[in-house]
Amino acid sequence: MSDTILEVTDLDKKYKDVHALGGISFRVQKGQIFGILGPNGSGKTTTLAILLGILKPNQGTFSWFGNGTDDANRKRIGALLETPNFYPYLNAIDNLMIVAKIKDLTEPMSAINDALAKVGLTERAKSKFKSYSLGMKQRLAIASALLSNPEVLVLDEPTNGLDPMGIVDIRSLILNLKQEGKTIVIASHILDEMEKICTDVIIMQKGKVIRTGKLDEIIQDKEHIFIRSSELSKVKELLGTHVLRLVSDKNNVIEFTSDLSSLEINKKLAQASVYCEEIYVKNQSLEQSFLSHINA
Ligand code: ADP
Repeated sequence: MSDTILEVTDLDKKYKDVHALGGISFRVQKGQIFGILGPNGSGKTTTLAILLGILKPNQGTFSWFGNGTDDANRKRIGALLETPNFYPYLNAIDNLMIVAKIKDLTEPMSAINDALAKVGLTERAKSKFKSYSLGMKQRLAIASALLSNPEVLVLDEPTNGLDPMGIVDIRSLILNLKQEGKTIVIASHILDEMEKICTDVIIMQKGKVIRTGKLDEIIQDKEHIFIRSSELSKVKELLGTHVLRLVSDKNNVIEFTSDLSSLEINKKLAQASVYCEEIYVKNQSLEQSFLSHINA
């Protein structure tokens, strides 16, 4: 059995005069938390809408579970593109019962109980929807996507508008679902948050994929070295060609990428009797990686 959950090849989409997707390709493997990342307007929602059969691409293909675009695939995918319109005066169980009927589930009550347990809403199952916090509303929405116990969960901006506690809840919920063996595809513009959960990402900009890979590889791409010294001009002179990119230069601190390690830099400066107050290294965050690509 193949471990490929989704294969996307050269998807292209135009909305009249807006070229929303310019030929994107990627592959999602079983068990990944796969982030489709990029700023607003980069084409994330368009991509998800095509993959869920809501929009038709102008060109390109995709295949779920190796079965192409077969309708039967949808039963294996739980999706949340927008927060569903739950009834404010109904409780969680009654709201999910309506969804369960639409999905024609054979054992709705046990499916509802399972889904509520997964999103941590069992204790509030009988409270009216309108009494829920935004975070709880979002968790109920995820419960509705989980009702048919899908193998894959597709989420669009799941932490939008949530307070820090709500964000933490969604984060641990997604990590738990991965633990259970589900594959999760998430579109988001919040790179710092996605850095905490994704295993693999594509970074999009203006309808193109500008970066793709394992999250670890992307954020360790290039270390940023920080040097604090009252003799910065000498430091810069000594490092000369070893500074690949000067990221910032202020208040006696320079931040840069280099072809030398921090140890080699330290040695080189010490040999010239130039001593620094601090030398330290930070891995590049996803956000920095994104910015360095668009500024390149
Ligand atoms: P994201 O989800 O990354 O914010 P979208 O997929 O929503 O990006 O949008 C990609 C581009 O397509 C944007 O320029 C957006 O304005 C445009 N777009 C999205 N939907 C439509 C539409 N229905 N009609 C015209 N343009 C659209």
